Amino acid sequence: DKLEANELLKLPATTQDNHTIEIAANINDPSAITRALAMGAESIGLMRTEFLFLERTSLPTEEEQLNSYLSMLEKLNGLPIIIRTLDIGGDKKVNYLNLEIEKNPFLGVRGSRLLIKRKELLNTQLKALYNAAKKTDGLSIMFPMITTKEEILFLKEYSENIRKELDAPYVPLGIMVEVPSIALIADKIAKYVDFFSIGTNDLTQYTLAIDREHPLLSAQADSYHPAILQLIHLTVTAAKKHNKWVGVCGGLAGEPLGAALLMGLGVDEVSMNPNEINAVKSFIRRNNFYKFSTLAHQALNCESAEEVRALEKEFL
Ligand code: PEP
Ligand code: MG
Repeated sequence: DKLEANELLKLPATTQDNHTIEIAANINDPSAITRALAMGAESIGLMRTEFLFLERTSLPTEEEQLNSYLSMLEKLNGLPIIIRTLDIGGDKKVNYLNLEIEKNPFLGVRGSRLLIKRKELLNTQLKALYNAAKKTDGLSIMFPMITTKEEILFLKEYSENIRKELDAPYVPLGIMVEVPSIALIADKIAKYVDFFSIGTNDLTQYTLAIDREHPLLSAQADSYHPAILQLIHLTVTAAKKHNKWVGVCGGLAGEPLGAALLMGLGVDEVSMNPNEINAVKSFIRRNNFYKFSTLAHQALNCESAEEVRALEKEFL
């Protein structure tokens, strides 16, 4: 009933056998924070900063960005928030950026590739973020669309230089794991990052070679494909081995069984749309971790997404 639903909002996602996973929200604009917290989010696992750049005719200034980041951090009052640097590519229309027209924008100058190519974007955004960190707690910075060690090392050094210049406190730096190449070398590069956040939307798109927005094929872009579960498993195993935090912020994290599977694989946090939190929490609270773990390890040995779904049906 309604009272129960309200109570649930404040309760942690703890299984019957007493295992807890952090429940976070994905947000696309600052106004969503209040709602996310009201719906039971314990933190913000992914703040997409594209909103600052879209639907306007010129770049947002450093001050404008700083004010926006500060308003979010102040609303959160110290609760953790992972703010992701701009993740834009040739597929989004941002006329004033004068992006080159690309034949395959999803395989083009997207995310961190754009930031490294157009350092003025990176510079302004990082300055605003570090200046925000000087005034508030809780911030982590995350870089999207990472594919190589060199990108990580460059972004780390670049960030650290700005931090020193501004005399800002240390801010954890993490990367999105959303391209198979980085999941496959997660064990090698874990030492360079503070955390991983697995983006199952793009990880699925790039692993299955299906455009996530394809009108005919997107339904087949199934994150339960064992190849994707294997990549997640590799990433989580690497994170654990190197004592790094690992969350998941793609669509799989917002499905009750998906979150269960991810918890079974050992992730520390699932971040989802605020309206998905209730169902995920109540599913986790009704079940046992040992069952999630068994399900997850059986799923890793499946031959197809269909087989994983059959397992899940059995589980239910
Ligand atoms: C993802 O790719 O899974 C993700 C969370 O990032 P976005 O949906 O913003 O690409
Ligand atoms: Mg992504």
